[in-house]
Amino acid sequence: MRAVASVLHLDLDAFFAAVEQRDKPSLRGKPVVVGGVGGRGVVATASYEARQFGVRSAMTTREARSRCPHAAFLTGRFHAYRETSEQVMGLLRSVSPLIEPLSLDEAFVDLAAADREAHPLLGDLTVADVTAFGTHLRERVVEVTGGLTASVGIATSKFVAKVASDLRKPDGLVVVPPGSERDLLRPMSASVIPGVGPATAERLRRVGVHTVEELETLSEDELVRLLGKASGHWLHALARAQDDRPVVAEREAKSVSVEGTYDHDLTDRDLMERLLTRQAGDVAQRLRRSGLSGRTVTIKVRLHDFTTLNRSTTLSSPTDAAATIARLARALLADLDTSGGVRLLGVGVSGLADWVQEDLFGEPEEEQDELPEVEVPHHSRRSWSPGMDVVHVEMGRGWVWGSGRGVVTVRFETAQTPAGPVRSYAEDDPQLSPWRPPTPDDE
Ligand SMILES: [Mg+2]
Repeated sequence: MRAVASVLHLDLDAFFAAVEQRDKPSLRGKPVVVGGVGGRGVVATASYEARQFGVRSAMTTREARSRCPHAAFLTGRFHAYRETSEQVMGLLRSVSPLIEPLSLDEAFVDLAAADREAHPLLGDLTVADVTAFGTHLRERVVEVTGGLTASVGIATSKFVAKVASDLRKPDGLVVVPPGSERDLLRPMSASVIPGVGPATAERLRRVGVHTVEELETLSEDELVRLLGKASGHWLHALARAQDDRPVVAEREAKSVSVEGTYDHDLTDRDLMERLLTRQAGDVAQRLRRSGLSGRTVTIKVRLHDFTTLNRSTTLSSPTDAAATIARLARALLADLDTSGGVRLLGVGVSGLADWVQEDLFGEPEEEQDELPEVEVPHHSRRSWSPGMDVVHVEMGRGWVWGSGRGVVTVRFETAQTPAGPVRSYAEDDPQLSPWRPPTPDDE
């Protein structure tokens, strides 16, 4: 725990849904649910308007529909989420070189490492200083994202900063003055401590512990007996707000990964294997160029219903060999049920070492300069998923409002227009096509 409140946690509010409301003016102020719309789909994010009807993340979409039938149910547009995330992370990086992204919409920022000449509001990091800075930063988030809000917590540790950012969501700022951390935590449920999931919470309940205050009454020895050594120490410290974990810059730099998202759900196993093989080649090339190798190979698979699966396997020594990475990636895929379709595939290598173990695997390979391109075929039948971006030859840009029985209905509007008109077309109308943002590859 630091002497000053210099750890900032920022969390964008209802991120996916907020991006959809920004880009679809007719949905502003209305319930929006982003997630899988198919039979096994789950809710990824619900707008605050939908939350009023009891819709929550990770609920099945079926349940969400029964609670809020008039909500707009949309599949995700990851290109838009990634682009918006980059705007926010870029803003945070301009504040401090020490930022630790936790996901697309969440990051820690170490204010003690910030350039205070460039950010005079930070002053001496007093409570008044960081409060003024947090207010300014939240205004900047609205500016750079074109209207999204963030909630911010500022405290003496990562744990308390993250708890604080959640207290006044959405669009809130909470600064926890140094010395008041334990008073803040005491009345809270013990499950506020990271790692206290349902199983741990149940064990604590059995010994009469529900709140952090009750947790404080257990000695370290008692907690170790109850939960094991590592968890016992952890809970004993965090219940007292003792958290010295540093903000670690650029977590993603600890791994090298490549991923692709696809317009249509992939179902062909052979195609998926070829894509993974190609991605493994790209990862290996990047590792070699940086003189790195790694022990853990991970694949990331997002299913059509929005579930994201990560599977990994660890080698006894590091590799930078494309063939090895590809073989392990394909083996990991073989254990997954992808029959419902896949919309994202990725390969990564982590556990990096700055040295290369040349030949332990007995798989020496030629340096491949040219990796084979893998063509992703378009479905013969075009699929129009709700929410996706489209462009019509005469009407311009819009998004799919719904489709079925050979008809697709489009609302023509973007973030820069007022709420726009709705038109219906035949599903195979040649004047209508999916819209993708220009990528550097298109140059
Ligand atoms: Mg968030």
